[in-house]
Amino acid sequence: MLPVVALVGRPNVGKSTLFNRLTRTRDALVADFPGLTRDRKYGQANYDGYQFIVIDTAGVHGDEEGIDKEMASQSLRAIDEADVVLFMVDARDGITSADLGIAKHLRSIGKKAYIVANKIDGIDAEAAQADFYELGLGEVYGIAAAHGRGVESLLHRCFTPL
Ligand code: GDP
Ligand code: MG
Repeated sequence: MLPVVALVGRPNVGKSTLFNRLTRTRDALVADFPGLTRDRKYGQANYDGYQFIVIDTAGVHGDEEGIDKEMASQSLRAIDEADVVLFMVDARDGITSADLGIAKHLRSIGKKAYIVANKIDGIDAEAAQADFYELGLGEVYGIAAAHGRGVESLLHRCFTPL
């Protein structure tokens, strides 16, 4: 069984953009993976020599007050199914209340999560990334999912300890 990587985060941070890059497709590659339910978008990634299943949590919607409701649905189940959680945030927006809610949940379950600050293209990446250490999940990895910057080193970091 391939390792499972879940992309979680509030809407518009770039989860689907990263999913498409990792799976090199515009559409979901939905397949039968034993033990995984079908109401989230699954793809098989073969990227930089790493093979894994990636889950795009397309169902995380709603206003930023509704964290519990958001987290109660698809993203919670995706986190459950995952070996590795990529918690995506928007490097241009800084920390939002939705980010805080997701971080709190991830800290409480103790599953390994990597903070991925997306959209570092065209900004001062280091300064932008620095904000997200406050989420209390350790290292912050800057990427530009739309262009691929930082993606290889992120995967290298995620998979080296497995
Ligand atoms: P999702 O809601 O988390 O799945 O986010 P999407 O993947 O749909 O992306 C939301 C918006 O962010 C889209 O307009 C993307 O083009 C844009 N976006 C995604 N990745 C990047 C990036 O690396 N840099 C920039 N500048 N924009 C990005
Ligand atoms: Mg999406």
